[in-house]
Amino acid sequence: MNTSLNTLQGVYEDAFAGLREARQAFTPTLDLRETGVVTQVTTGIARVRGLPGAGYDELLEFPGQLYGLALNLDEDEIGVVLLGDHAGLQAGDEVRRTGRVMDIAVGEGLLGRVIDPLGRPLDGGAAIRSSDRLPIERPAPAIMDRAPVSVPLQSGLKVVDALVPIGRGQRELIIGDRQTGKTSIAIDTIINQRGQNVLCVYCAIGQRAAAVARVIADLREHDALGYTVVVVAKGNEAPGLLYITPYAATSIAEHFMQAGRDVLIVYDDLTQHARAYRELSLLLRRPPGREAFPGDIFYIHSRLLERATHLGAGRGNGSLTALPIIETEAQDISAYIPTNLISITDGQIYLSPLLFELGVLPAIDVGKSVSRVGGKAQRPAYRAVTGDLKLAYAQFEELESFARFGTRLDDETRVIIAHGERIRACLKQPELAPASVPVQVAILLALSNRLFDAVPLAQMPQAQRALLEAAANLPAALCERLQGEHKLSDADRDAVITIAREALAGFRAAEDHVQPSSHAARPATPGEDAPQ
Ligand code: ATP
Ligand code: MG
Repeated sequence: MNTSLNTLQGVYEDAFAGLREARQAFTPTLDLRETGVVTQVTTGIARVRGLPGAGYDELLEFPGQLYGLALNLDEDEIGVVLLGDHAGLQAGDEVRRTGRVMDIAVGEGLLGRVIDPLGRPLDGGAAIRSSDRLPIERPAPAIMDRAPVSVPLQSGLKVVDALVPIGRGQRELIIGDRQTGKTSIAIDTIINQRGQNVLCVYCAIGQRAAAVARVIADLREHDALGYTVVVVAKGNEAPGLLYITPYAATSIAEHFMQAGRDVLIVYDDLTQHARAYRELSLLLRRPPGREAFPGDIFYIHSRLLERATHLGAGRGNGSLTALPIIETEAQDISAYIPTNLISITDGQIYLSPLLFELGVLPAIDVGKSVSRVGGKAQRPAYRAVTGDLKLAYAQFEELESFARFGTRLDDETRVIIAHGERIRACLKQPELAPASVPVQVAILLALSNRLFDAVPLAQMPQAQRALLEAAANLPAALCERLQGEHKLSDADRDAVITIAREALAGFRAAEDHVQPSSHAARPATPGEDAPQ
C-alpha cells in the first residue's frame, strides 16, 4: 500500500515539475493591440469604428488575410480602401492596426516575374523571396539629387527616335484613342532595350486579361521578359488594388534606379487608374469636381510621375524613364485627365486614329507630338538630319490637305508632297521590329538627301528593305561612330550616303511621276548631296 502511494506521489511530482518550471519562466507581458469594428462594407470600401490611433495611409488588417488602406480619417470613423475581394467581409468583423504603411518586395528576384501589386506571383512560379522591401508611397528624389537628361533611350521606332526622342529619366506621355497602338509603342520600346543595360517594369492597370497575356507572350517571345518585371491589376480587381498598382511598380523600379541602373517603366494606363481613384473617392463621399474626379486627382498623378528622374553622379547616376499611357475619347486631348498628364510630363506622343485608319503605323501624329527634353539627349548623328526632316514633313502635312481637292499643283508643291510621302513611307514600321541606330541613321540620311524621291511610292517597302540589308552590313567601326557621342563626320556621312545610293540604285522609276526640279533631283555626286 505504502509503496503504491509513493509511486503515485512520484508520478504527480514529475508531472507538476514541468508545469512549475513553465510557470516560473513565464513573465506576463502586456500585448497592446488596437482593434476596431467594421460598421459598413460597400464595393471596395469598408467603414471602421474604434481605431482612433490609425494614421493616414496605414495598413489595416481584416479577417481572412484581407488588407486595407486608411484613406479617410474622420473623428469617429475611418474610410478604408480594401485591397482585395470584400465578399467575405461583414459588418461587425474585427479590424486590427498594423502600424505600418503598405510595402512591396523589391530586388533582382523580381526580374522575369509577373506579380500583383501586393507582390503575389501570377505566373504560377514560386513565391517572391526578397529581403528588401520598400513602401509603395515614397517621396520623389530631391532637386539637388537630380541631373539633367543626357543619355538617349532608344525606342527602336524611327519616328520616335528621330522626331520625338526620349532621354533616360524623361517622362513621355503616350496618348491616343482606343486601339491606336499605344501599348504597342511601349512594348516595342521595352523590346528594344535588350542588351542596352536597361531594366523594365510594365505596369498593367485595369487592362483586359487577354491584352496583358498578349503583352507577356510578346515579351517572352522577344527575350525581353528576363529584364522586365510585370505588375498586373486586371480590370475586374478591387479598385483599391488598381489604385496602388502604379505606386507599387514605381517602388520596384526605384530600387533598381537607386542601385545605379537605368530603368524604364510603362504605366498602361493611367486613365484606368484615374477612374479607379474616382470610384474610391465617390464611395468615400469626397466631393466630386470636374468630370466627377476628386480634387486631388492632379496630385496623385504628379506625385507618381515626379518619382521618375535622372539621378546625379553623387546618387549613383541611375535613371527612371516613365512612359505613362492615357486613353482619350474621340480625340479629346483637352479632357481633364489628358490635360493634367500633358502638363505633368515632359512631352507627349500623340496617336491619331485617322492615321491608324490610313495604315500609317505607328500612327504617331508628328505635329501634335513633342519631346521637351529628349532632343538634348539625342545622338548627334540624328541631330544632323532631323531638323530638315521635321520641317519637310510639316510642310507636306500642310499641303497634303490641299492636294486632296485635286487642284493643279505647281512643280514645287508636287516636289514637297512627293518628298513628304516618302518620309511618311519611311517612318512606317511594323510592330515588334525595332530598328538599330545605324539602320535608322542610314534611312534618315537617305531621306534628307532625297535619295528616296526617285523611288516610286509603290516600291518604297522594297527599297527600304534593300537599304536595311545594306545598312546591316555597314563596317563595325562606322556603326560604332554612328552610335557614339561625336558629331557625324563628313567622311562617315558620305560613306553612308554612297552605300544608300548603291542600295537604292535599282529602284528608280522608268517614268518618274515627280518632275525633277532643281530642288529635288540633285546630281549623284556625294559632295553635292549635303542637305541644305
Ligand atoms: P487599347 O486602347 O485597347 O489599349 P492600344 O491603343 O494599346 O489599344 P494596341 O493594342 O497597341 O493599341 O494596338 C492596336 C492594334 O493595332 C493591335 O492589333 C496591334 O497589333 C496593331 N498595331 C499597333 N501598332 C502597329 C504597327 N506598328 N504595325 C501594325 N499593327 C500595329
Ligand atoms: Mg493598350
